[in-house]
Amino acid sequence: MSDCVFCNIIEGKIPSVPVYENEHIIAFKDINPQAPTHLLIVPRKHIPTTMDIVEGDMKDIIPEIFAAVKHLAGQFNLEQGGFRVVNNCGKDGGQTVDHLHFHLLGGRQLTWPPG
Ligand code: 5GP
Ligand code: ZN
Repeated sequence: MSDCVFCNIIEGKIPSVPVYENEHIIAFKDINPQAPTHLLIVPRKHIPTTMDIVEGDMKDIIPEIFAAVKHLAGQFNLEQGGFRVVNNCGKDGGQTVDHLHFHLLGGRQLTWPPG
């Protein structure tokens, strides 16, 4: 989608700092980090929200998301201290980019509940 910021990152039209990629997903650093490590794990396919995930995505894409989480937790030395994976869905969930993504946050003590 031409007006989607993450599609534009995936197509290389907007610069990013990629940290992991494969056939189905890409991960890059968040432009406005909320923790020492703040990465975004994003399917290459334009899926607007969690509610738009279809059966084929469950097989092809969702497992890759969590494989990337584990890989990146190792790459960024988060295994021992721990980390948080967040998906904001829709307006009340605080989603601001309408292309499915998972935040991976770590490197500091995170608090709960979120705002
Ligand atoms: P959301 O609020 O939708 O869950 O998260 C969107 C995230 O995308 C935010 O944390 C925001 O900082 C990040 N973001 C928005 N625009 C860009 C961009 O152009 N580049 C990168 N790397 N991150 C972005
Ligand atoms: Zn998109």
